[in-house]
Formats: sequence, structure tokens, C-alpha cells
Amino acid sequence: MSRFWSPVVQTLTPYVPGEQPQMQRLVKLNTNESPYGPSPKALAAIEGQNTADLRLYPDPEGAALKQAIAKLHGLDANQVFVGNGSDEVLAHVFAGLLKQSKPVHFPDITYSFYPVYCKLFGINAQIVPLDENFEIKTADYQTPNGGIIFPNPNAPTGRSIPRSEIEVLLLRNKDSVVVIDEAYVDYGTESCIPLLRGANCPENLLVVHTLSKSRALAGLRVGFAVGHPALIEGLERIKNSFNSYPLGRLAQAGAVAAIEDQAHLEATSAKVMQTRAKLIEQLNALEFATLPSTANFIFTRHPKYAGAKLYQVLRDRGIIVRHFKSPRIEEFLRITIGTDEQSNELVTALKEILS
Ligand SMILES: *Cc1c(COP(=O)(O)O)cnc(C)c1O
Repeated sequence: MSRFWSPVVQTLTPYVPGEQPQMQRLVKLNTNESPYGPSPKALAAIEGQNTADLRLYPDPEGAALKQAIAKLHGLDANQVFVGNGSDEVLAHVFAGLLKQSKPVHFPDITYSFYPVYCKLFGINAQIVPLDENFEIKTADYQTPNGGIIFPNPNAPTGRSIPRSEIEVLLLRNKDSVVVIDEAYVDYGTESCIPLLRGANCPENLLVVHTLSKSRALAGLRVGFAVGHPALIEGLERIKNSFNSYPLGRLAQAGAVAAIEDQAHLEATSAKVMQTRAKLIEQLNALEFATLPSTANFIFTRHPKYAGAKLYQVLRDRGIIVRHFKSPRIEEFLRITIGTDEQSNELVTALKEILS
């Protein structure tokens, strides 16, 4: 606390990211990073950059990256916005599209950065509870609102809803923006991006992606949003009033190559989905109750072992998972899907702990 803080700083409750411990030989299953690493072509593109060019500013528009994203998804380049991680993109979305006189609607259990942005930008939020099975019910979002945002699949539950349900929501919610945060879409969820193609692109749908999860580039900091060109223009206005150069030269070069290597994404995502199915089976054999997941993590609880306790005993064995001390989900652990070896280490530890 300092008397020089502005009034808004005093009221903030900053987001707390999952820890990045420096200990060696950890089984790190707490922040949903990919265990397989990025496309080798992305790494080659970064290494191939002329470092002498780093004295020059990068392309402020990220034109090559927008072009690559547009091509991959069958969109026009003016439907693409890029930023320094999707967290930055989401910040601009809250400031530029979701700050309205009516409250923004999002689930009670969801990505915990959303309420943080609301505080930062002075946005009223209306919290919409998930149902008793931890599912998003789009019918619950049809009261007057200044915007709707949720991840699909949701985090930290891992549950997803079909695209057809979001289409119905869009038809019933024409007067505000609907933002779908598809951070984990590549592990078995239907993307809403096809709805944005061609002349029928809805005016009020924005889809946000990150290269941090399925493209294994959390350390590069690249995310993007796609939607109607007028929504993108609004985001550009915010971005150019904040930081004209959010993506450096290395980030842009690596991201273009990563976006172009769809084969690497598909192979590594398939492997994660295989490991996920096997892990859920093994956990169920140990009496865990695991929510269905279409993400690279699972959300699970044991009927006889408190979430906080299990988190701690796993940690004592060098296995780091995520536990949230929040209402409704205190008994759950969120476990990132790692390699088969990491998964086996986890299951072996749990068998010992529970026996
Ligand atoms: C990880 C995550 C993000 C942010 O990813 P960046 O690393 O900032 O691109 C956004 N939304 C959800 C739901 C996430 O889990």
C-alpha cells in the first residue's frame, strides 16, 4: 500500500496465475500447458529471424499473422485481431465491447480473470450459476445484458456445449456481444468460428483463441479474436490507444509458422485426448468422480478425500495440480493432461495415497 496509488489500484483484486515452481523433477499438471512442445517449424521460424532487425519496431498490425489466421479459418483478414496472449485480447474485449450500461453476464464457475477485468474497468457483472451438473445453460443468459462471455469448453470444469446451442443464444440475444473464449477448443469441442464465415457473419459474435495451450506457445504470448469486421475495428481502436506494438518480431514469426502447422496441432491434440480418456478411466477405478472433459485438463473429486488435502499430499510428492478455494468447487482438483508417463506417475501416487 502506498499513498501514491490511484483510487482504482486500491480496489483491485488481481488474478493469481497457477504457480511456476523452479524445483527440478516436478510433475507439473497445474497450468494446462502442452507437454509436447510447439511445432518445430515455429521454433525454426523464431531461430531464423535476423536478430539485427530487433533494433526495428515490429509490424504494428501483425498483418502476416492476421493473414495466416484468416486463411486457416476461412475468414477475411479484417475479421482478425491479434494480441499479446489472449489475456490481453480479453482485456481489450472487456474495455472495448463489454463495458456497457447493462451488466456483463458470465458463469459463477469460470475463468477467474473475467471478474478481475470487471474490477479494473469498472464493469458491472451479473453472475449466472452453472446448473447442478456444472453445465452452462444458455437459456439462463436471456435477461437484458451488456454482453455475455464464457469459455467453451468452460474452465475449470472442462465441459462444453454444442455450437447449435450458441447459435440459438445468438438468435435470442441480438442487442449485445456474445464472446466465446475457445482457449481449449482443440481437444474435442465444436468451434463457433464457422459461423463467422461469409456474408452471414453475425454482427455480435466474437471468438477468442490462444496459442498458449494446443499450440504449446505459452511463453511466446500470442492470442487472437475473430468476428465481424466492425467488432475488430473497435478492438483496434482500444489497442491503438494502449500499445501499438503488442507482438514483437519473434512472436509474430513464430506464431505465423505455428498457425500454418495444423498437422502438429492435430497430432499433439489427439495424443492429449487419448491420455485423457485413459486417465479418466484409471481415476474412476479409484472412485473419483470426474466431469466429462473436452479440454486438456480434467476436473475431478474423490468422495473420501478433501480437495485441499489431496492437492497438498500430491504436492509433497512433487506432483502439482490446481485447487481452487472457491464455493461449489473446493472438493475438486483441476489436473492438466500431461504425457502418458506423467499420467502414470499421478495414478501411482494416488493409488498409494488412497490405500
Ligand atoms: C489460458 C487461458 C487464457 C489465456 O491464455 P493466454 O496465455 O493469455 O493466451 C484465456 N482464457 C482461458 C479460459 C484460459 O484458460
